[in-house]
Amino acid sequence: MDVKIVEPIKCRILDIWYENVFNHESSYNWFEDLKEILSEFFNVQVANYFIYDTDTFLQLQWNHSLAKKLNAIKWLEIEGFFYDQDFNEIPFLQKNLLAVGEVSILLRDQENQPLGLLVMESTPKWKEFSQTTEVFSFISTISTLVQKIKKTVYLTQQEHQYRNLFNVTKMFYSTLDIGQILEGTLNAVQEAFPNFKSILILSNDQDRKTSVPYKLFDYTSERPATVEAYVSGEITTELATDLGVRLLNVPIKGKQGIYGILQMSTPLDYLFSVRQKEFASLLATAAGNALENAKLYIQSHRLVSDLQLINETTHKLNMNLSLEDMLSFLYKQLNKSFHPDQIGFVFLNEEEHETSSASSDFFLSSNGQEYIKYVVNHFEKMQDSLFIADLNRLSEQEFDFRSLIAIPLKEQNHITGFSIVLHKEPYFFSFDSFKLMQSLIQHSSLAISNSKLRIKLQEMVNRDHLTNLFARKYLDKYVETSMKNDERGVFILMDIDNFKLVNDTHGHQVGDEILKQIASIIQKRTEGIGIGARWGGEELAVYLSQMTIEEGIEESKKIINLIPHHTNPSVTVSMGVCGWDKHDLLSFHHLFHNADTAMYEAKNNGKNQLRIYQAPPL
Ligand code: GH3
Ligand code: MG
Ligand code: MG
Repeated sequence: MDVKIVEPIKCRILDIWYENVFNHESSYNWFEDLKEILSEFFNVQVANYFIYDTDTFLQLQWNHSLAKKLNAIKWLEIEGFFYDQDFNEIPFLQKNLLAVGEVSILLRDQENQPLGLLVMESTPKWKEFSQTTEVFSFISTISTLVQKIKKTVYLTQQEHQYRNLFNVTKMFYSTLDIGQILEGTLNAVQEAFPNFKSILILSNDQDRKTSVPYKLFDYTSERPATVEAYVSGEITTELATDLGVRLLNVPIKGKQGIYGILQMSTPLDYLFSVRQKEFASLLATAAGNALENAKLYIQSHRLVSDLQLINETTHKLNMNLSLEDMLSFLYKQLNKSFHPDQIGFVFLNEEEHETSSASSDFFLSSNGQEYIKYVVNHFEKMQDSLFIADLNRLSEQEFDFRSLIAIPLKEQNHITGFSIVLHKEPYFFSFDSFKLMQSLIQHSSLAISNSKLRIKLQEMVNRDHLTNLFARKYLDKYVETSMKNDERGVFILMDIDNFKLVNDTHGHQVGDEILKQIASIIQKRTEGIGIGARWGGEELAVYLSQMTIEEGIEESKKIINLIPHHTNPSVTVSMGVCGWDKHDLLSFHHLFHNADTAMYEAKNNGKNQLRIYQAPPL
């Protein structure tokens, strides 16, 4: 064999480098060319090349990133063979197991670190060449070639990836739209790793309304390696034989926290290179920072609008609205801010609860009362607000509305009621919504209890102490308003017969009891159709709005008949009845006067009877 063989080989190898260095697309072409040289000069037909990555030689295939794991050789396992007893390096290893042996040629870089492994059949021509000193020159030339090619491939790939990374990062910084950031992330991974499936697993965040597909991170059902990546913030890999894939979990990290996992699935036998992992990690971190910025931006916006809401509400509630107006204003605010399906206000009295009519109608139904009872039950035991993401998880009962928030109305640490919101969807209200509603209701609590106190106070002023009937002043106003707004009405005045005698005989206290007994009859008879009042002393009055005189007389008769049966000692009354309708143009003073006239007729006519006022003939 011509010993100068190495010169033409070198020339050819130079050609390979020259042709391949500008052909970035295929990093395996050079090996095809090298194989031709091996075949031409050494008759070698079978040759494989293994690329060294981290601590393993991976077989070069159509694309080295898809190397079969089966064709991976650990450096640790073969290292020993490449040194002799005196630790001198041996550049190749000849094995003559069969008729045609095999030779492994170790290529090293300038730092003497492994670069690759050329494994080929050992032909007689090769064997002959390998005896010559030129073999060292040959190996060093290939090593240089591989180094150069590796460097070019590395640089072009890196350039491509970083250009991709740069573009997506540029986009991240130009947007605060979470949807765009997520989409950009997915696109960038897809471009960098077109053969793998990538998904986003994101932590629970209620503001994230996006069309980009993602999975919700769930501690309880996520794979341990995924949870580990999420918790530690480090990349993890997992051989998921049950899924038939290898998983790479890259945490999406910002400065303040981890927002999720970028998960790639590859074939089981695939190994990620250090560089690929580094790229994925840079991409996920860029995405994490962008998400964080967007979140902070949204948060600050929300904080401002939350403050505005609370400010507006407090301001409005300080305007001394009526309880009804106050609750309907709160209803609107709750509706606007939280979009619940149902809104309710409930007041807790000593023994019972009272659902305000300002609530959604649903809460006045028996179905709605189920939820109220649930919350009442809670506040009987605890003072804390209720925030339930899925009611059906807590209760054996099946509830239609699964999301619930209930915030107590407090008066000096004492719960006087609560506000409740419901939504059909589970997990509908965010924790931020809960906090905001809490603050809103707490701010309103004082105004609501003030307004309730005001109502109570007014009631106290409006009512007579002894009988709990309305006071004269209230009656005056009530009748005056009715005569302005209604079509008709009936006024009844009554005076207890011989009451002085009752007092004298049985004592003043018994007299008081009789007044109360009559008041209670009046209260029962007028409920829903009119009001009863204490006119003064032992004179009581009834006003029935919207009633005709005929209906009024019927009602009067009933009352006058009931009184002797329900008083003890039994007393009777004398009554004067007067009706009006809108054509009469009567003032309320006249109405009272007329009833008084009729009553005195009854007295003068023998008492225990009723008289209807008759207008004197003109
Ligand atoms: P007549 O049938 O004419 O109405 O006779 P009378 O005794 O009821 O009428 P008179 O006006 O002479 O007396 C009214 C009495 O009603 C005088 C007073 O002792 C009694 N009275 C007025 N207010 C109260 C009250 O709040 N409690 C009690 N126990 N008695 C009252
Ligand atoms: Mg009297
Ligand atoms: Mg009397």
